[in-house]
Order: sequence, then C-alpha cells, then structure tokens
Amino acid sequence: MSFQKPKGTQDLLPGVVEKWQRFEATARGLCDRYGYKEIRTPLFEQTELFQRGVGETTDVVSKEMYTFEDKGKRSMTLRPEGTAGVVRAYVENKLYGDPDVTKLYYIGPMFRYEQPQAGRYRQFHQFGIEALGSAEPSIDAEVIAFGYRFYRELGLQGVRVELNSVGNPDSRVAYRGSLQNYLRPMLDTLCKDCQSRFEKNPMRILDCKTDAHRFDDAPSILDSLDEESAAHFAEVKQHLEAMGIPYSINSKLVRGLDYYTHTAFEFKADGIGAIDTIGGGGRFNGLVGQIGGPDQPGIGFAIGMERVLLIMEQQGVADPAALPLDVYVVAMGEQAAKYAVPLLYKLREQGVRAEKDYLSRKMKAQLKSADRLKARYAAILGDDELNRGEITVKHLENGEQASIPIDQLGDYVKPQS
Ligand code: AMP
Repeated sequence: MSFQKPKGTQDLLPGVVEKWQRFEATARGLCDRYGYKEIRTPLFEQTELFQRGVGETTDVVSKEMYTFEDKGKRSMTLRPEGTAGVVRAYVENKLYGDPDVTKLYYIGPMFRYEQPQAGRYRQFHQFGIEALGSAEPSIDAEVIAFGYRFYRELGLQGVRVELNSVGNPDSRVAYRGSLQNYLRPMLDTLCKDCQSRFEKNPMRILDCKTDAHRFDDAPSILDSLDEESAAHFAEVKQHLEAMGIPYSINSKLVRGLDYYTHTAFEFKADGIGAIDTIGGGGRFNGLVGQIGGPDQPGIGFAIGMERVLLIMEQQGVADPAALPLDVYVVAMGEQAAKYAVPLLYKLREQGVRAEKDYLSRKMKAQLKSADRLKARYAAILGDDELNRGEITVKHLENGEQASIPIDQLGDYVKPQS
C-alpha cells in the first residue's frame, strides 16, 4: 500500500521551503518595524466561532469548512481563516485592556474544502495582521501601506491596491435597499446562490463567481455613504496619497457582513490564470462585539502565501542564495572517525556550519560529499595527525592547504563577518 498527500495539499521539500522561509522572514521583519507582535492560535476552534466570526452566508462557512465532531460531541472546525481566532483570543485574554492599539500578526495554515487548482488549495497558508482598538483612518492607511510594502520587499512588481468603503451600518442599510431595487428585476435569472443571498446578504451578489460581470451598472456603495463614512474614506485616501501608495477605487469590492465597516481593500497581481487576488482585508468594527467582546474596532489583512510565491516564481524573483557549509570534516581511520563526533559538536557550538560523513566512506567519497554540500573547507583528520593534535584544512575553492592545531579549527573556518 502506498500513500499520497490529501488532495489540495502540498509537501514543501528542501529547495522550495527556503522560499517560504524567506517569505516568513520578510513578514516577521516588517511586523517588527510596524509594531505587530506574533499571535499563535489553535488550528481548530468551535464551529460556532466561524459561523459568527466569518458569517453563515459566506461560501467559506456554508460550503468550505472542515467540520468534525470530536469525541466529546462538540462541533469543531479547522480554521478557514485567521481573523476569527485572533479576535476570539483578543477577547478571551482581555487584550483590549491594553491602553495602546493591539497589533497582532499570524502566519500559518488555513483549511478550506475548495476545488483545487493553481493558486487554490485545501490547506493553504496566510500571513495576516490585525490592529485592534483604533477607529482612526490613519491605521486603515497604515495597514494597506504595510501590505503594499510587504510585496515590494519580497521583490514583487506590479501589485495593485484596490480600495473601497462599505461605510458604517447606516450607509449599508441605505445601499442594501438601492442594490435590491437594482437586482429585483433580474432576480429570476440569477444563480441559485444569489437568489438566496438576495434577502440575507445582497452585497455578496456583486462578487458572484458566475454573474459578477452582469452588475457593471449596479449602484455604487460610495453614493450611499453618509457624512461620517465619506469623511473616513476621504481621510484614508489622503493618508495613502501622502505615503505615495498607488490605489484604484473598486466600488464592487464589498463585504456583505454587518460587522465589516468602512475600508475594504484587495491586493491584486496578474499571473495565475483567472485568479488575481493575492491578499485582502478591511475594517471590522462590529466583529469583536459579534463574538462576545466589548465594542472595539479593528482592521487587518490576510495575504495568501502560495499565490504570492507562485507569482514571485513567474516574475523570476531570484531565490535566496543558500549559505555554504563552513567545513566538512573528513576522517581517515577509526580513531579519527570517533574523534570527529565531539569535534563536530564543538564546532557547531562555536557557530560553525559543519558536516561529516556518516556512511563510513573512503576519503575520496567524503571529499565528493564536501563538494556537493558546497563546503568552503575540508578538514582532513588522520590518526597520526590526531596524535599530534593537528588537522589539515584545505580551502576547496583555491586548493590551499595548511596544518593547524585542532583546537583552532573553529576560528579558522568561521566566515569573517
Ligand atoms: P480571504 O480570507 O478569502 O479574503 O483570502 C485571503 C487571501 O488568502 C486571498 O487573497 C488568497 O491569496 C488566499 N487564499 C484564499 N483561499 C485560498 C485557497 N483556497 N488557496 C490558496 N490561497 C487562498
């Protein structure tokens, strides 16, 4: 019997995983500069958290969740996104007691039962940030600028920012009415999903996978914004302009759920067929309250790692250079082979990237292995030398050779920084 990975998942093997590590290191580095601290929440949560926190009318919750009953007969779900768990932890751990804005980030796997294709997986990974506790437009702009900067730091070109406002709840009530008036005459011809969204969540109809192109002349939510919402939006745009972040307005970019407020945005890039969204986010002033916390505003984004890495590959962004091995210890003779074990331990303790043979191979094969591993030095240890307390070091690039005291090996091969 042979086993295969589950459909829609990936093995990230050495050679590829370095790209992921670079993504993660870039994310962590920027989070540090922008003041975001890491949070790690469980990979599964009570199903109800996502029903409330993502919304029962979304495709994610209604069709795509990995839900199971545990042995205690509780309904559990593998997290399909990061925000609900972060907000749950924020409430449960009373992080809202912090007088400053709470800035959190996460990197990790998410699970959605979707039809796999390029850029769409069942286990995929997101890097996300959430800023909780401020309703100021300046933080909306900062979150968007952070995302924009992140793609740039990774070396991606041509990432577009699409921006919209879904306003406050009053603005959305007004918009809902005008959107329903627009959609009503075509209701019979819409797909089944959209027909059922018409009452529950009409704004979601605008991003219907099959019919979206038919709504080009739908009313714009921006025309329904009340004074407060329009002022918030204007200020977000001013801040973006001051930072020199290019954006375009997409008034169809809506999030239908009540706890989404004001700013909504997406990051887009070409390259993976019909899929062009590589990240997205928005303000969620009602979410903390929705899942049982105090009335605290929030805003964040989630960036899909697989899609970003795919596009980086297509754009030919250079892979990070692998660090060479500092030294490969070639042991000749039984005594030397034994001695190599504590020698390697000591070298690594000194911060040296060291390797040796583990297959009792002859010297020639050991030197080949040193070449394959791109070692800078080979350190050749014979039983006689060992008795004299010496070792031969050979610079593998220029062939220079020297005999040095064994206890100086670490300092000798360590890269000069
Ligand atoms: P969402 O939480 O749906 O707004 O998704 C945020 C980002 O996660 C998207 O922009 C994608 O980059 C990524 N994403 C969402 N679903 C998937 C998936 N099934 N496979 C890979 N990436 C995904």
